[in-house]
Amino acid sequence: MRYSHILIPTTKEIPKDAVLPSHKMLLRAGFIQHVSSGIYNLLPLGKMVQDNIRNVIKEELDKAGCNEVQLGFVTPASLWEKSGRLNKYGRELLRFEDRKDNEFVLGPTHEEMMVNLVKQSVRSYKQLPINLYQINTKFRDEIRPRFGLMRGREFLMKDGYSFHANREDMNREFDLMEQTYKKIFTRLGLDFRVVEADSGAIGGSGSKEFMVLADSGEDTIVTCDKCEYAANVEAATAKPKPRPREEMEAEFAKFKTPGVTTIEEVSEFFKVDPYFVVKTVVKKAITDGESRLVAFVLRGCDTLQEVKALNAVDADDLIDASEQELADAGLVAGYVGPLELGIETVIDNSLEGEKCCIVGANETDYHLVGASFESFDKAQFKDLSEVQEGDSCPCCGGTLGYTKGIEAGHIFKLQDRYSKPLEATFLDENGKAKPFEMGTYGIGVSRLIAAVIEQNHDEKGCKWTKASAPFEAHIIVANSKDDQLAKLGDEVYDKLRENGIETLLDDRKDRFGAKMKDFELIGCPYGIIVGKGALEGKIEVVNRDNLDKIEIDMHEILNHLGV
Ligand code: ATP
Ligand code: MG
Repeated sequence: MRYSHILIPTTKEIPKDAVLPSHKMLLRAGFIQHVSSGIYNLLPLGKMVQDNIRNVIKEELDKAGCNEVQLGFVTPASLWEKSGRLNKYGRELLRFEDRKDNEFVLGPTHEEMMVNLVKQSVRSYKQLPINLYQINTKFRDEIRPRFGLMRGREFLMKDGYSFHANREDMNREFDLMEQTYKKIFTRLGLDFRVVEADSGAIGGSGSKEFMVLADSGEDTIVTCDKCEYAANVEAATAKPKPRPREEMEAEFAKFKTPGVTTIEEVSEFFKVDPYFVVKTVVKKAITDGESRLVAFVLRGCDTLQEVKALNAVDADDLIDASEQELADAGLVAGYVGPLELGIETVIDNSLEGEKCCIVGANETDYHLVGASFESFDKAQFKDLSEVQEGDSCPCCGGTLGYTKGIEAGHIFKLQDRYSKPLEATFLDENGKAKPFEMGTYGIGVSRLIAAVIEQNHDEKGCKWTKASAPFEAHIIVANSKDDQLAKLGDEVYDKLRENGIETLLDDRKDRFGAKMKDFELIGCPYGIIVGKGALEGKIEVVNRDNLDKIEIDMHEILNHLGV
């Protein structure tokens, strides 16, 4: 492609809300154009990158036996009602009516639609398994669309769904998809981790996320310094914290502790390790529009992990309870404790069997010492605490630490969560109707454009990986007004293209310095400078990754680019 024939509107003007490097650079280098909050046009370079990513995804999925389809972007609200998600999904769903008052939803994900497709076309176990995917537009009316392509409202997703006769086969496909996703992210040249993710009500290792490592990532990932263990902080677990050397010893008794309310103050007051001081966090849990107060009980040295708490009580949302709401329930802020509390109580696993600790007395200015957790029901103990840096790995005992990642893919064992309510069944070997076992597999295709840049950029601009780059080579003719140089530039350009190398030829009659700046900003892997030396058969090759420059003989260019 000749620069003079392609629309690359590079600009210095970028909006103030563009804070992430990828957002700034994709705008500056003319890959994308802002339309409205969370909505972008892809310009020619952006479209090329997206197509490259899409092709890698498609090739690997097709190799793994998946079938590409394309579903309606506009989906009937009735399907969403049937699956129970019409209300649950809340305001992220963009709803509207057609001229005949039929209600529709712009698809934010397509479980319902795909189940409906398969329900109508698959009858027997003999047609299973089947894995269908699409690479298509999604719309989510995100509360805070931001960071450019990273969190848009309209975006491109690859979403796949597999259908199976039994759970074993679904598990097999889930493993195959994990392997396939690893191939995709590796081919795209990304540094990534596969992490255990929060699986909501399904639990276990039923969900994995593919995280592209980048300092700006919105997700916190827990990784081990010794083994492969990696988990989203919402799902991460650690070995129990070691008990302090000095055990706490006390008979059960009530103590007056005026004004002593925080864990630090209680621990200081009684001269015991916060490990033995119990924290009772009261929250308002909302389930199907109904709210109730729930107490979450942990050791003073631990922190409540909100998503674990949400799952523990099967709530849609957890919000802080006000002092007034506590008072209405007969609770005293600062002195709440788990004994005789009178509201639903969930206790962190690490307190199971604890015989001696300090808890709030549910009475102003009083704490109980020597309290025991032995009388609680086993079912009340759940994993509630957030893994902290320095905790021990649950697999090997190594040290856990935090890193930041961008969620670029997510695979999930759905089981019969959608097939059951949508009455999607097949006939098994005995002629009995059974709901399909399902898996679901997503990749944020347009988010990946931004993720590549978050991981690969410098202050001068983008550094595309080989597989994602709009062009592999970018020829800069130092002076296009010089006919001889322009002709040599054309020769190199033809040679590269004849050998299958996607090439951009900067044939503009601009200054050399400005052209180099655009090469650095756009970020194709190789810059090829056709300058004065070219008259003697020498050209320079610049590696965009480290900006190292070497001079080579013009006829060696193909060898140099590894062709
Ligand atoms: P997030 O936690 O980032 O909001 P999600 O868990 O809601 O994402 P999924 O439903 O798992 O997203 O969707 C599959 C993939 O689609 C995600 O892994 C992500 O890469 C991409 N994706 C989700 N929301 C957006 C968005 N608003 N803009 C761009 N890509 C998105
Ligand atoms: Mg997800």
